[in-house]
Amino acid sequence: METPFVNIHTHRPTGHGIEPASVGIHPWEAAEGDLATVREHVGPAQIVGEIGLDYLRPDREAQLRIFEGQLRLAEAAGKPVVLHCVKAFEETMRLLKQFRLRAVIFHGFIGSPEQAARAVAAGYYLSFGPRSLRSPRTVRALGSIPTQRLFLETDDAPATIESVYATAARLLGMPLDRLKETIYNNYLHIFS
Ligand SMILES: [Zn+2]
Repeated sequence: METPFVNIHTHRPTGHGIEPASVGIHPWEAAEGDLATVREHVGPAQIVGEIGLDYLRPDREAQLRIFEGQLRLAEAAGKPVVLHCVKAFEETMRLLKQFRLRAVIFHGFIGSPEQAARAVAAGYYLSFGPRSLRSPRTVRALGSIPTQRLFLETDDAPATIESVYATAARLLGMPLDRLKETIYNNYLHIFS
């Protein structure tokens, strides 16, 4: 079998490769969010996400309440979480420490090599998408983390997952096949 592409977070599923099903309330929808809906659908989902904090937006109180509630649900259900984190890295890291989560994946990671190192030291994964790969300091972060903690994604971009892998392989100076195998193994490590 050819190693499949893993697209850990997409809003435009293609039906090709691995595109884990998720359930979650996005921080932008926290004010209207209903935790009961997540509780109801968490069973068949592979991931609780995308959830998190976005401090460029108002409603921090609602965001915190919904985020914590979903972390609790993910912990209870034994599901990995996919995180949206904007201008809220410290707060996110502080909250994560309070839960025993199966796996934590920062999606669309944009940040410094120092932040990446802290997330890795805490045992977390980082996922990079088209926007991440256009940010020079984030590309430095990509090159600095162990590939055993790496995922790739298309998020809401019209890009194909194949093109994201090709760009990451070039930036990492790594053969595409080896990158595919590494990320597939990361996927199996978390989900099986
Ligand atoms: Zn997204």
